[in-house]
Amino acid sequence: MDRLIVAEELIEQMVSHCRAGYPYEACGMLAGRNGRVEKVYAMTNDEPSPVSYLINPREQFLVMKEMREKRLELVGIFHSHPSSPPVPSAKDVNLAFYPDSVYVILGLSDPGHPEIRAYEIRDGRAVELPVEPVR
Ligand SMILES: [Zn+2]
Repeated sequence: MDRLIVAEELIEQMVSHCRAGYPYEACGMLAGRNGRVEKVYAMTNDEPSPVSYLINPREQFLVMKEMREKRLELVGIFHSHPSSPPVPSAKDVNLAFYPDSVYVILGLSDPGHPEIRAYEIRDGRAVELPVEPVR
């Protein structure tokens, strides 16, 4: 993938889930096709913390199953950085197990202006990808 295509409405869904989880990190998965997000799954952070997240494994299992049934791909995995810039942490890089997915981070340090960034994380390296909001 060379960029992440996502409707503004879906970005708002991610932002509101991340705001609801504040001051802890919030997380979820993005399903779609050909690098375009079609559905946002707001999920439970099993290890509520301001600096890390762990997607609830049971929810992850159910979401992956639904995606297979609907023939959607795992386009991305998102989480928030409640009070730091939307840049992958060392842990984010080490625990990026889906090299074909885009890792989306929402920065909430300026709550009025959430910042969304996307990265491809592969072989211990994060490369930023452009986010293309569409209507
Ligand atoms: Zn992170």
